[in-house]
Amino acid sequence: MGEVNLEHVSKRYDDVTAVDDMNLEIEDGEFVTLVGPSGCGKSTTLETIAGLTIPTEGTISIADRDVTTLPPKDRGIAMVFQNIALFPHMDVYDNISFGLRLRSYEKKEVDRRVDRAAEIVQLEGMLDRMPDEMSGGQRQRVAIARAIVREPEVFLMDEPLANLDAKLRVHMRTELQRLHKELDATIVYVTHDQAEAMTMSDRVAVINKGELQQFAPPLTCYNEPTNLFVAGFIGSPSMNFVEGTVDSDGLQTEDFHVQFDTGQLDGIATDDRLTLGVRPEDVYLTDDADDVVAPTESISAKTDVLEPMGDEIFVYILTGGATSEGMDAEADDSHQLLMSVDPDKDIDSDQDVDVVLDREHLHLFDTETGDAIAHGLEFASVGTGPTGTEAEGDD
Ligand code: ADP
Repeated sequence: MGEVNLEHVSKRYDDVTAVDDMNLEIEDGEFVTLVGPSGCGKSTTLETIAGLTIPTEGTISIADRDVTTLPPKDRGIAMVFQNIALFPHMDVYDNISFGLRLRSYEKKEVDRRVDRAAEIVQLEGMLDRMPDEMSGGQRQRVAIARAIVREPEVFLMDEPLANLDAKLRVHMRTELQRLHKELDATIVYVTHDQAEAMTMSDRVAVINKGELQQFAPPLTCYNEPTNLFVAGFIGSPSMNFVEGTVDSDGLQTEDFHVQFDTGQLDGIATDDRLTLGVRPEDVYLTDDADDVVAPTESISAKTDVLEPMGDEIFVYILTGGATSEGMDAEADDSHQLLMSVDPDKDIDSDQDVDVVLDREHLHLFDTETGDAIAHGLEFASVGTGPTGTEAEGDD
């Protein structure tokens, strides 16, 4: 079957380490997405699975067979690339069946496979069309059908939707999910688009600088990111990060305090530097926070830029009396939070507001290493007043 295993796979080019000690156990029938910023090593990882690149170190097995040095044709894989290379002088039938005919499959078998593939990608009735008579999405479906007729154990797809316009991309995402269900095959899919990764995958492998950061279901990466990189990369718009110092009953940032039971944080001591992470949807105007079970202390802020999205408004707020004038975006990140507000909310820029954070959805990271320390913070233990002055230390 289509299990794919990467064990300690590294790929180095002179002084560039494209893939660094990658371990991935992909199950049969899984839809796994390799995601990360440009140049992080996604394509190189995929190419080692495909056999287009031989790893410098490590082993790769497909269906329990060591394929590390086998040529692509002997691996039971089929690839779909970003650039849809169809033969312009061949119709859809000939394009889809080209590989099979090259391998001298019987006409009956070729027809059976082409018909099935055309049905799966919904190209029935178009088999005699020429590529220049088709839309970008249809051409990409021909490319996928060409992979399907090979009946591989594993599909490898490298940004197959990257050249399509935004609307078609979203449509093709659903098509690929349907395809995955119908084929019941393993799909390893490369994208730099975290939304694509989130919506389609059973599990997401988040990669940065050649190193695997987290390999987990999309919602686990979203709710329990393993480090600052994953927290910032998964989710759009990104999580807010504010640095602070641990005190006896929580975290003191430059502009506000967040009270919680510091006793829950193993190996953390007063005066340690931590980074607080909060997603825009977990910042609430105090007036709208009735349903928040465990709000933090109120934070005074001023609204800055508003971005109405239709179904929500993204509002940048400035804390600690910061102003946007002469603001250095990088340096003053710690005085800015992005929040999501209901679209019918009467809100303006330059307005004084009080906000709270949803303590149950706050994240803490070690500022130095970036490693996650906690997801969801608990109130200080019983006996602690609302101001937290009696909170116990974290010894
Ligand atoms: P991604 O797919 O995430 O954009 P790649 O896997 O294409 O990243 O590349 C990872 C790193 O390896 C990049 O720094 C890239 O420049 C480098 N790289 C990839 N292929 C080669 C090559 N053939 N020769 C030298 N460097 C390469």
